[in-house]
Amino acid sequence: MDEVLTGLLRPKGIAIIGASTKPGKIGHTVVKNLVESGYEGGIYPVNPSADVILGLKAYKSVLDIPDHVDAATITVPAKYVLDVTKECGEKGIKGLIVITSGFAEVGDTELEKELVRVAHEYGMRILGPNVVGTLSNSDKLNASFAPFLPLNGSASLVSQSGALLIAIDAITYTRHIGFDKLVSIGNMSDVNFGDMVSWLNEDENTKCISLYIEGLKDGRRFIEESAKVSKPIVVLKAGVSEHGAVAAASHTGSLAGAHKIYGAAFQQAGVIEATDLSDLFDCTLALSLEPPMKGENVLILTNGGGVGVLATDSAEQAGVPLKFAPESVQAELKKHMPSFGSAKNPVDLTGMAGNDWYHDTTKFSFSNDWVDGLVVLYCETAMTDPMEIAQSIHKAVTETGITDKPVTVSFVGGERSDKAMQWLVENGIPAYNAPDLAVKAMGTLHEYAKLEMMKADVIDNNHDVDEKTAHEIIAKVRADKRTGLTEIESKKIFSAYGLPTVRTEIAKSEEEAVKLAEEISYPLVLKIVSPDILHKSDVGGVKVNIKDEAGVRETYHAILKNAREYKPDADIHGIVIQEMAPWGTETIIGSVNDSTFGATVMFGLGGIFVEVLKDVTFRVAPISEKEASLMLDGIRGARILDGTRGEAPRDKKALASVLAKYAFMVTDLADEISESDANPVLVYEEGKGVKIVDARIILKEN
Ligand code: ADP
Ligand code: MG
Repeated sequence: MDEVLTGLLRPKGIAIIGASTKPGKIGHTVVKNLVESGYEGGIYPVNPSADVILGLKAYKSVLDIPDHVDAATITVPAKYVLDVTKECGEKGIKGLIVITSGFAEVGDTELEKELVRVAHEYGMRILGPNVVGTLSNSDKLNASFAPFLPLNGSASLVSQSGALLIAIDAITYTRHIGFDKLVSIGNMSDVNFGDMVSWLNEDENTKCISLYIEGLKDGRRFIEESAKVSKPIVVLKAGVSEHGAVAAASHTGSLAGAHKIYGAAFQQAGVIEATDLSDLFDCTLALSLEPPMKGENVLILTNGGGVGVLATDSAEQAGVPLKFAPESVQAELKKHMPSFGSAKNPVDLTGMAGNDWYHDTTKFSFSNDWVDGLVVLYCETAMTDPMEIAQSIHKAVTETGITDKPVTVSFVGGERSDKAMQWLVENGIPAYNAPDLAVKAMGTLHEYAKLEMMKADVIDNNHDVDEKTAHEIIAKVRADKRTGLTEIESKKIFSAYGLPTVRTEIAKSEEEAVKLAEEISYPLVLKIVSPDILHKSDVGGVKVNIKDEAGVRETYHAILKNAREYKPDADIHGIVIQEMAPWGTETIIGSVNDSTFGATVMFGLGGIFVEVLKDVTFRVAPISEKEASLMLDGIRGARILDGTRGEAPRDKKALASVLAKYAFMVTDLADEISESDANPVLVYEEGKGVKIVDARIILKEN
């Protein structure tokens, strides 16, 4: 465990620099909060002109404190922060909680950099600046200006928004979701989300890590750290609208959005993404109390048909579609319900179900091997007491002694049901006020199990690569003061990375074209080669199915004429003569270099699927072949590759392998390539492979 971060977040002794005698000032509030939260370490207010603050001895400087202190909160104005940071360094403090604002968030990035530089000189870490502070129930530590410690529990939350952190602090009591720690991460000048997830992974009091993220600074580091974490991580990412960080010179560029790439990155890091604030709480509750759901079988118990139907609908959406329980299970359940009940799934115990039936069916179902996850639903009735039902369910679950299988509950009713659910949560069973939420929570536990499995995936980086050729081409293009590569240049790089392209040769004259045509053999495709013409077919620069010499001669001139008409001063390198690939399913593979995550790879179906429907999926590169297969299955039109309307299934194995190689290429050349695509990539029947017929690479400006 990182000792310095532990000193910062669980300090033994804390100084409050900028402590104030005046109620209402932040420097006063922090001292008050530390006292009121019952913090047992030393509290040392620092203020040059006060002797006593809230009954505590105040010091002129942190250097006057006689005891050792691990951390300091800083609330002095920004212009004094560097001076006090140096003093803290001299004092041997481990970490600073810089509450003061007026740094990068108002444009003063220099001051912020200097702050970090000075802190690091002394081996200190910085939380912030511009934070609310940090709170920890297990340390009775409220080193913040949030009003009180959150409801005690086993999740910990890190928030990039200070205001939201304070709001969540209050919500914990109304939603009855407990947290051990709340950490405001502010400008993330030093301590970032990557640091926090790895530290919280080691923190004995944290079972689930919840994050509110607006934007990551170092996306790759976050993925790497998160992938190593053995606890569930759930994130709410704000700002799902598209960002303009990538200029769109390629197809892929125009399709890449921050939301898509963040979503992919979270999935690859094994992080569960919440849809909104309410969902963040729902997921946190389930993940902090229950183990992952490892199999596929969810069983639902209910006393009302209506909530059963609602739960069935949401089971589909939550990725845990219901199956009927085996006959033997149904037969046993039948013993605990009236003859008009149903033992299928959902199991309808009917409105006659009382404490005993709930207890007995819960106990039987939860301990049955077929059941991988149990959802217990209850509609408040006149005949039953919600608290007693809750206790019966809890008793049944406890009696089984099972801890590696999840259970979630929903009570639908009024105040009595609310109280019963609160009791359940306090006793370790997640309960929700709507049936679909209990099912969704089970879906989250299932997703968590799946993500955990994916983490074990190994990426094969041992590809046979002709790096020399690739770099020679790039150097030549750079020497030409270009960033856009022509199709033939791009294809040479693709080939250097072992990607299957159609044979493509460049002709500088009509005679050369004819000679190459004989060599490659008919039918052929002729295309314009010019760095000034990006979309070749738009300007009549592509002619397919050329069958003979006369065709080559005629097309050669026609294409040149079209190109000159489109752009008289276009720099024309020649005409490519290429093998005409047989018809196949058109797909697109591409890449963009994202400002947060670096190289990413995209897959989609070609034609209208990409143009109109934007049916594509992204991953942060590199990826394993298994991940590549998941990409193929992850688009809406996935079934087209499985063969529709009598067509044979496509060679998904070859396609996945090419996709993984492509991802390796854009990672390996991440310093050079800004965007790229292979459009189209033709996919043939199983066993017949794929062919890339068009290629485009755009280099980074440098
Ligand atoms: P651009 O995208 O610049 O307009 P392409 O090289 O992709 O040009 O060509 C346009 C279309 O022509 C492709 O989408 C594909 O349908 C077809 N095509 C191009 N090259 C070949 C080839 N070698 N074999 C078969 N079809 C091809
Ligand atoms: Mg194309």
